[in-house]
Amino acid sequence: MSGRRRISILGATGSIGQNTLDLVARDPVAYEVVALTGGRNVAQLAADARRLKAGIAVTAHDDLLDDLRAALAGSGVEAAAGSDALTEAARRPADWVMSAIVGAAGLAPGLAALETGATLALANKESMVCAGPLVMATARAHGGRVLPVDSEHSAVFQALIGEDIAAVERVIITASGGAFRDWPLEKLATATPEQAATHPNWDMGQRITIDSASMFNKALELIETKEFFGIDPARIETVVHPESMIHALVGFRDGGLMAHVGPADMRHAIGFALHYPERRALPVERLDLVALGQFTFRPASEERWPALRLARAVMQEGGLAGAVFNAAKERALDAFIEKRIGFVRMAEVVETVLDRLSAQSVLNVDAITLDKVREADHLARMTADVVMTE
Ligand code: NAD
Ligand code: MG
Repeated sequence: MSGRRRISILGATGSIGQNTLDLVARDPVAYEVVALTGGRNVAQLAADARRLKAGIAVTAHDDLLDDLRAALAGSGVEAAAGSDALTEAARRPADWVMSAIVGAAGLAPGLAALETGATLALANKESMVCAGPLVMATARAHGGRVLPVDSEHSAVFQALIGEDIAAVERVIITASGGAFRDWPLEKLATATPEQAATHPNWDMGQRITIDSASMFNKALELIETKEFFGIDPARIETVVHPESMIHALVGFRDGGLMAHVGPADMRHAIGFALHYPERRALPVERLDLVALGQFTFRPASEERWPALRLARAVMQEGGLAGAVFNAAKERALDAFIEKRIGFVRMAEVVETVLDRLSAQSVLNVDAITLDKVREADHLARMTADVVMTE
């Protein structure tokens, strides 16, 4: 045993994946990279796998296996393709696994990693939205743990260290407001995917950036807060904070608020999860508060961002409502990106899908299992497609 920490990165070619690799590559001796996974960007995946001497590299796409093999020829890195191979790779023994696939596709590989008893650093918020109770129960059953990587949830986690959860009165999740926070409401219907994919403060993947403009991202994060920390939805608030420097605040029963402040750089939250429970030095900017001058706050309007209202309904409903909400959102987002529907139509589609499947009693289950989540996800996508053709 070399004593090196065995790590895997699911979604290594994405924005979170690349930020994780940045930290890992600064200290290559400390880590043994077990598996890296990616999507269509096989060249990036192979280059990173070679550089970090990964055991295996997996692309989610079967048709890209030959390309990946060719790119890895002579490197000694194994190549594999397809979603089953990806989940198998996630099952390879590792101490720490980064879950940074985008969308519900991240759920099964994350669960596979948890079943080995690994620590799962969770950027893939969709896992918590679709199957929070299952994710937490899987971690408990196998002696593993889940650490939040979403910046807001890392902030809450950090504010709660040494605190009694019973003393928490409220959790405030901040939102930048995304690309359209200053647009007149009437103009939102004309918003294009290109405009929505430009974030004022954060550099992230295309899908989460558009979700920031619609606040579907914040909606997912409210649900994630409930599932992760077991906080009553009535105690979870959101506020628009355009500077994106305060990531979340925890309010205690004595009136104190603990705020987490830091630069808009995901390497802080990733690094916190990588080194936890230690706090190690990280290569992020140190804030100059005088230069920043002020932090401002605005109400998070449910008229401008109906996704926030839908999140409340989902938290109220529980069961498979999160899986349906997320899947319908993913389909509506695909349609918006492909310019088949407009920006404001996304929330209408998601609401209609939730209403229809709720009326069909699809959302209520005794226990959430991966199969039930998959069924609900499939049904929600089909229903969304129907709604979008009506
Ligand atoms: P991204 O689009 O940049 O990267 C996504 C990764 O997942 C890529 O490696 C891609 O190849 C892979 N992928 C995509 N579809 C897949 C599929 N069907 N099967 C397997 N792999 C697939 O996304 P991102 O911005 O890095 O976000 C990743 C996750 O982290 C998301 O859940 C997002 O909500 C969350 N997150 C991201 C940020 C951020 O700053 N980017 C912040 C907080 C949370
Ligand atoms: Mg976030």
